[in-house]
Amino acid sequence: MRVRLEVSAHHCHVTGEDVAILFGRGYRLRPRRSISQPGQYAAAENVRIRIGTGEITARIVGPERPHTQVEIPKTLAVHLGVNPPVTYFGNSSAPRVLCELIGPKGRVRRKAVIIAHRHIHCDPRAAARLGLRNRQTVSVRTHGTRPLTFHDVVVRIHPKFKLACHLDTDEANAAGIRAGEWGTIVK
Ligand SMILES: [Zn+2]
Repeated sequence: MRVRLEVSAHHCHVTGEDVAILFGRGYRLRPRRSISQPGQYAAAENVRIRIGTGEITARIVGPERPHTQVEIPKTLAVHLGVNPPVTYFGNSSAPRVLCELIGPKGRVRRKAVIIAHRHIHCDPRAAARLGLRNRQTVSVRTHGTRPLTFHDVVVRIHPKFKLACHLDTDEANAAGIRAGEWGTIVK
Protein backbone atom coordinates (compact mmCIF):
# COMPACT_ATOMS: atom_id res chain seq x y z
CA MET A 1 0.00 0.00 0.00
CA ARG A 2 2.01 2.92 -1.28
CA VAL A 3 1.28 6.52 -0.45
CA ARG A 4 2.99 9.62 -1.77
CA LEU A 5 4.72 11.67 0.92
CA GLU A 6 4.26 15.43 0.85
CA VAL A 7 6.15 17.81 3.10
CA SER A 8 4.61 20.95 4.59
CA ALA A 9 6.73 23.88 5.65
CA HIS A 10 5.19 26.32 8.13
CA HIS A 11 2.12 28.03 6.66
CA CYS A 12 -1.26 29.44 7.65
CA HIS A 13 -4.93 29.18 6.72
CA VAL A 14 -7.16 32.21 7.19
CA THR A 15 -10.86 33.01 7.34
CA GLY A 16 -12.50 35.39 4.89
CA GLU A 17 -13.03 37.78 7.80
CA ASP A 18 -9.31 37.78 8.58
CA VAL A 19 -8.40 38.28 4.92
CA ALA A 20 -10.55 41.43 5.03
CA ILE A 21 -8.79 42.66 8.19
CA LEU A 22 -5.28 41.86 6.95
CA PHE A 23 -5.58 42.89 3.29
CA GLY A 24 -8.66 45.09 3.15
CA ARG A 25 -12.37 44.70 2.60
CA GLY A 26 -13.18 42.83 -0.63
CA TYR A 27 -9.63 41.55 -1.09
CA ARG A 28 -9.32 38.18 -2.83
CA LEU A 29 -6.37 35.84 -2.25
CA ARG A 30 -4.38 35.26 -5.43
CA PRO A 31 -3.59 31.57 -6.12
CA ARG A 32 0.07 31.25 -7.06
CA ARG A 33 0.60 27.50 -7.17
CA SER A 34 -1.86 24.65 -6.80
CA ILE A 35 -1.02 21.97 -4.26
CA SER A 36 -1.93 18.31 -4.41
CA GLN A 37 -5.30 18.53 -2.67
CA PRO A 38 -7.88 19.56 -5.30
CA GLY A 39 -9.00 23.19 -5.00
CA GLN A 40 -6.27 24.16 -2.56
CA TYR A 41 -3.41 26.47 -3.43
CA ALA A 42 -0.43 28.33 -2.09
CA ALA A 43 -1.45 31.98 -2.31
CA ALA A 44 0.79 34.78 -3.50
CA GLU A 45 0.22 36.49 -0.14
CA ASN A 46 2.44 36.13 2.91
CA VAL A 47 1.65 37.37 6.38
CA ARG A 48 3.95 38.26 9.23
CA ILE A 49 3.02 36.40 12.38
CA ARG A 50 4.20 37.24 15.89
CA ILE A 51 4.43 34.10 18.00
CA GLY A 52 6.02 33.82 21.42
CA THR A 53 9.36 35.61 21.42
CA GLY A 54 9.67 36.05 17.68
CA GLU A 55 8.11 36.70 14.33
CA ILE A 56 7.86 34.56 11.23
CA THR A 57 6.65 35.11 7.68
CA ALA A 58 4.16 32.49 6.54
CA ARG A 59 2.64 31.62 3.20
CA ILE A 60 -1.16 31.54 3.13
CA VAL A 61 -2.69 28.32 1.87
CA GLY A 62 -6.11 28.99 0.38
CA PRO A 63 -8.97 29.05 -0.10
CA GLU A 64 -10.36 30.73 3.00
CA ARG A 65 -11.30 28.39 5.85
CA PRO A 66 -13.81 28.49 8.72
CA HIS A 67 -10.93 28.98 11.21
CA THR A 68 -7.61 30.79 11.02
CA GLN A 69 -4.84 28.32 11.74
CA VAL A 70 -1.04 28.63 11.81
CA GLU A 71 0.91 25.39 11.39
CA ILE A 72 4.56 25.27 12.45
CA PRO A 73 7.02 22.43 13.06
CA LYS A 74 8.19 21.70 16.61
CA THR A 75 11.69 22.98 15.91
CA LEU A 76 10.30 26.41 15.09
CA ALA A 77 8.01 26.30 18.14
CA VAL A 78 11.04 25.67 20.40
CA HIS A 79 12.87 28.53 18.72
CA LEU A 80 9.90 30.83 19.39
CA GLY A 81 9.49 29.62 22.98
CA VAL A 82 5.95 28.26 22.58
CA ASN A 83 4.38 24.85 23.06
CA PRO A 84 1.51 24.39 20.58
CA PRO A 85 -0.67 21.28 20.66
CA VAL A 86 -0.22 18.55 18.08
CA THR A 87 -3.63 18.54 16.46
CA TYR A 88 -5.48 18.88 13.19
CA PHE A 89 -8.29 20.75 11.52
CA GLY A 90 -11.72 20.10 12.91
CA ASN A 91 -10.39 19.26 16.35
CA SER A 92 -11.35 22.41 18.22
CA SER A 93 -10.74 21.13 21.75
CA ALA A 94 -6.96 21.55 21.87
CA PRO A 95 -5.94 24.99 23.21
CA ARG A 96 -4.02 26.74 20.46
CA VAL A 97 -1.21 29.22 21.01
CA LEU A 98 -1.98 32.90 20.67
CA CYS A 99 -0.38 34.80 17.81
CA GLU A 100 -0.76 38.07 15.95
CA LEU A 101 -1.11 38.08 12.18
CA ILE A 102 0.08 41.25 10.50
CA GLY A 103 -0.98 42.20 6.99
CA PRO A 104 -0.57 45.37 4.93
CA LYS A 105 -3.98 46.73 6.03
CA GLY A 106 -4.36 45.46 9.57
CA ARG A 107 -3.52 43.00 12.26
CA VAL A 108 -5.46 40.46 14.25
CA ARG A 109 -4.77 38.34 17.31
CA ARG A 110 -5.91 34.73 17.18
CA LYS A 111 -5.43 31.57 19.22
CA ALA A 112 -4.37 29.71 16.11
CA VAL A 113 -0.94 28.09 16.35
CA ILE A 114 -0.68 24.30 16.19
CA ILE A 115 1.72 21.58 15.18
CA ALA A 116 -0.05 19.56 12.50
CA HIS A 117 -0.81 15.99 13.45
CA ARG A 118 0.65 13.85 10.66
CA HIS A 119 -2.13 12.65 8.42
CA ILE A 120 -3.19 10.96 5.21
CA HIS A 121 -5.66 12.62 2.86
CA CYS A 122 -7.77 10.04 1.10
CA ASP A 123 -10.75 10.03 -1.25
CA PRO A 124 -13.53 7.46 -0.69
CA ARG A 125 -12.51 5.28 -3.65
CA ALA A 126 -8.92 4.96 -2.50
CA ALA A 127 -10.19 4.37 1.04
CA ALA A 128 -12.31 1.45 -0.16
CA ARG A 129 -9.38 0.04 -2.16
CA LEU A 130 -6.99 0.32 0.78
CA GLY A 131 -9.54 -0.65 3.45
CA LEU A 132 -9.17 2.63 5.35
CA ARG A 133 -11.76 4.27 7.60
CA ASN A 134 -12.10 7.95 8.44
CA ARG A 135 -10.12 8.98 11.56
CA GLN A 136 -8.42 5.60 11.70
CA THR A 137 -4.73 5.73 12.56
CA VAL A 138 -2.12 3.79 10.62
CA SER A 139 1.67 3.66 10.42
CA VAL A 140 3.69 4.81 7.43
CA ARG A 141 7.12 3.35 6.75
CA THR A 142 9.52 5.59 4.87
CA HIS A 143 12.37 4.57 2.61
CA GLY A 144 14.68 7.59 2.63
CA THR A 145 18.28 7.90 3.75
CA ARG A 146 17.20 7.52 7.40
CA PRO A 147 14.32 5.04 7.09
CA LEU A 148 11.79 5.04 9.89
CA THR A 149 8.15 4.24 10.57
CA PHE A 150 5.75 6.98 11.61
CA HIS A 151 2.99 5.75 13.90
CA ASP A 152 -0.29 7.45 14.77
CA VAL A 153 -0.90 8.82 11.26
CA VAL A 154 -4.56 9.84 11.16
CA VAL A 155 -6.57 9.05 8.01
CA ARG A 156 -8.94 11.73 6.77
CA ILE A 157 -11.40 10.75 4.05
CA HIS A 158 -13.25 13.29 1.94
CA PRO A 159 -14.53 13.35 -1.66
CA LYS A 160 -12.34 16.41 -2.35
CA PHE A 161 -9.15 14.76 -1.10
CA LYS A 162 -6.48 12.97 -3.09
CA LEU A 163 -4.37 10.20 -1.59
CA ALA A 164 -1.23 11.68 0.03
CA CYS A 165 0.53 11.56 3.39
CA HIS A 166 1.37 14.96 4.86
CA LEU A 167 4.44 15.34 7.07
CA ASP A 168 6.05 18.53 8.31
CA THR A 169 9.66 19.50 7.72
CA ASP A 170 10.80 18.12 11.10
CA GLU A 171 9.38 14.72 10.26
CA ALA A 172 10.73 14.74 6.72
CA ASN A 173 14.20 15.75 7.90
CA ALA A 174 14.20 13.08 10.59
CA ALA A 175 13.44 10.47 7.94
CA GLY A 176 15.76 11.91 5.30
CA ILE A 177 12.98 12.18 2.74
CA ARG A 178 12.01 14.74 0.18
CA ALA A 179 8.55 15.61 -1.02
CA GLY A 180 7.24 13.23 -3.67
CA GLU A 181 8.90 10.10 -2.35
CA TRP A 182 6.79 7.07 -1.51
CA GLY A 183 5.93 5.56 1.83
CA THR A 184 4.24 2.31 2.73
CA ILE A 185 1.05 2.18 4.80
CA VAL A 186 1.26 -0.40 7.58
CA LYS A 187 -1.98 -1.20 9.38
ZN1 LIG B 1 -2.78 17.83 4.81
